[in-house]
Amino acid sequence: MEKTEESVATEVLQRLKDGNQRFVQGVISINTLATQLNRQVLASQGQNPHTIVLTCSDSRVPAEMIFDCGLGELFVIRVAGNIIAPSLIGSIEFAAVNFNLSLCIVMGHSSCGAISAAVSHSLQHTNPTTSHLKGIVDFINPAVDFVKDQGLSLTDRASINKVGRRNVVNTVSQVTAQSSLVRHLIDVNNFKICGAFYDINSGVVEFFE
Ligand SMILES: [Zn+2]
Repeated sequence: MEKTEESVATEVLQRLKDGNQRFVQGVISINTLATQLNRQVLASQGQNPHTIVLTCSDSRVPAEMIFDCGLGELFVIRVAGNIIAPSLIGSIEFAAVNFNLSLCIVMGHSSCGAISAAVSHSLQHTNPTTSHLKGIVDFINPAVDFVKDQGLSLTDRASINKVGRRNVVNTVSQVTAQSSLVRHLIDVNNFKICGAFYDINSGVVEFFE
């Protein structure tokens, strides 16, 4: 029986979960290591990744390591605060169509500097020093306001991580809202965008299913 797009998404999601479990246990699979020996094959035959990952640029959040994936497996888009801008949505559209992908993970993480910066500007009523930095903070601000509205002080790590989680939810909905192509893929091809949150302390990725 031919696999449906939905079953492909479920299958690759399970692959990421298994890979993250290995990462937490400090194990690297033979398959992951073997991809390095396949470098020439990948170079000549092209890439065939199974998942798009949009995540933060934080040096402690390398998607390939966290999911124990090798060369050619993940199409990774990294930007501070795992936010969305036209070129980033374009990157998702490019990968989804060209590699016929079924799954995009949007992954935030604990102790995120971009999130902390947005929180601190909000609490101190200040603005970032450049318009580019402001673009990142402006994207995160609705998540800051969401957690503020819950009456949380935003001075402790737990509530700042709540902003990070909400920011993931906002990014997922913005990708869908801003890309008619992604909406089409969701409707017709069962394309899935799944939020996730990486705990930099435990190494565990929690998926928002
Ligand atoms: Zn971050």
